[in-house]
Amino acid sequence: MKDSVTEINDVVIVGGGTAGWLAAAACSRFLANGRRRITLIESDAIGTVGVGEATIPPILNFNRMLDIDENEFLRATRGTFKLGVEFVNWGRVGGRYLHPFGSYGHDLHGIPFHQLWLRERTHGDPGDIAGYSMSAVAAALGRFGRPGRGAKPPLSELFYAFHFDASLYARFLRTLAERQGTIRREGRITGVERDGASGDVAAVRLESGERIAGDLFLDCSGFRGLLIEQELGAGFEDWSHWLPVDRAIAVPTATIGAPAPFTRSTARDAGWQWRIPLQHRTGNGHVFASAFMDEEEARRILLANLESEPLADGRVIPFRTGRRKLSWSHNVVALGLSSGFLEPLESTSIHFIQNGIQRLLALFPDKPISPLERDEYNRGMRDLYEDVRDFIILHYKATQRDDTPFWRHVAAMDIPDSLARRIELWRLHGRIFRENAELFGATSWIAVMLGQNIWPDRYDPVADTLDEAKVAAAMAEMRAAYRRAAERLPPQDEFLRLAGAWT
Ligand code: FAD
Repeated sequence: MKDSVTEINDVVIVGGGTAGWLAAAACSRFLANGRRRITLIESDAIGTVGVGEATIPPILNFNRMLDIDENEFLRATRGTFKLGVEFVNWGRVGGRYLHPFGSYGHDLHGIPFHQLWLRERTHGDPGDIAGYSMSAVAAALGRFGRPGRGAKPPLSELFYAFHFDASLYARFLRTLAERQGTIRREGRITGVERDGASGDVAAVRLESGERIAGDLFLDCSGFRGLLIEQELGAGFEDWSHWLPVDRAIAVPTATIGAPAPFTRSTARDAGWQWRIPLQHRTGNGHVFASAFMDEEEARRILLANLESEPLADGRVIPFRTGRRKLSWSHNVVALGLSSGFLEPLESTSIHFIQNGIQRLLALFPDKPISPLERDEYNRGMRDLYEDVRDFIILHYKATQRDDTPFWRHVAAMDIPDSLARRIELWRLHGRIFRENAELFGATSWIAVMLGQNIWPDRYDPVADTLDEAKVAAAMAEMRAAYRRAAERLPPQDEFLRLAGAWT
């Protein structure tokens, strides 16, 4: 190490919501070197946003990284399994499809499965493409099985994530982080001190007058972006012209019957409603565009479409869609809502936090911070946000609904060139390519395109090079194997009970 370079010894995490406690759990586990201190500051008076109950499969890697026992985690968060998202009324009123985790079928001779399926449709009836996804078939039957190490196909093709209670999740992470040595300070931050020469944040001051100094600050302060925006003015790229929903009302209800192993998103007149079944209750929320619907109407629609009595009054959560222009500025890294927000349609926010933490650990800097490492972090986060943004916009653009001003608006709106190019490639020959390290792969794009009735003009002619009878037989065998495997699985509540994961 050069003389002028020193290690970062004091990491200060500002905020104790999901982002703050996730960061604390990971930093106290992977940055501990005997000298380094991890301090988290949170304010009980301010509180947390307290929503965020559905996740995507990469959370399994994050949990494994932290040696979290899955059954203990599910017990503590009253969690359930999630095999995908069911979309209702999105393409057309009355339409429904599942966006499953995992993939569709098996490629044959390197030819993508969906091309074979598209070809089969022109000759016979290969059935719904969902019948070729292990996760989709299990979801439709309400069943679950954990593949575990060494599992063989088709069970090894079952991909899953979790639904959980967001406040119990934060509590679980806090216990873990404190056990690993994270120091927690309670109090409202009322002042920020900067270093005169570098402009870096040197310390934060609490209402009590206490000063907490640090080398690196993780801004997990929620939408307000206390350090990254209010202090450093990193700037915000607004995407609300593509994604006009800007409010949510959330209410829990009692879970009726066995919880379904999937999230449901039902399109409404100016937005959509989520249903997330947990062990002890169901999370519900209505996400809507205030330019097209007032709060009273949004609340009325939500309350009229619940499966049982609401257990609390729903509060309105306003949000702005877009991302912080710089996730990392000076010695401040924004994680969570302080770094940007995309509506929870594909449950991506907690993933953004976990991905940001993993990226930070992979690029953990010395003092002074190298601009190269900082830029690399910002580049990666920008790509992640933009890829997911395009995928979310697809759900709105790919609609045939014209029954309300909101749906007419989103169907007609301009979209990013990157998305327009992908839709056109699909329309020509059903081609989908996963680009770089993007989060959502071919199955996700195919699920939404087909689910919302965007059909290619023709399939890839390379599919014609395989013998039709052999392909039909292979596909029939795949479909039967998924069905057989799913039927052998227990209902998910039974699985949770048998695993000791039900509270
Ligand atoms: P917050 O929870 O707001 O925490 C901010 C923290 O900063 C708090 O501890 C607060 O006390 C502290 N703080 C702020 N100012 C100060 C100060 N001056 N002094 C001291 N402390 C301070 N994500 C998903 O992955 N899946 C979902 O299904 C999902 N659904 C969502 C639905 C809605 C309607 C919304 C709005 C979000 C949803 N999210 C979802 C996103 C998810 O809720 C957030 O990503 C997650 O909760 C992280 O929030 P946070 O920790 O960044 O912020």
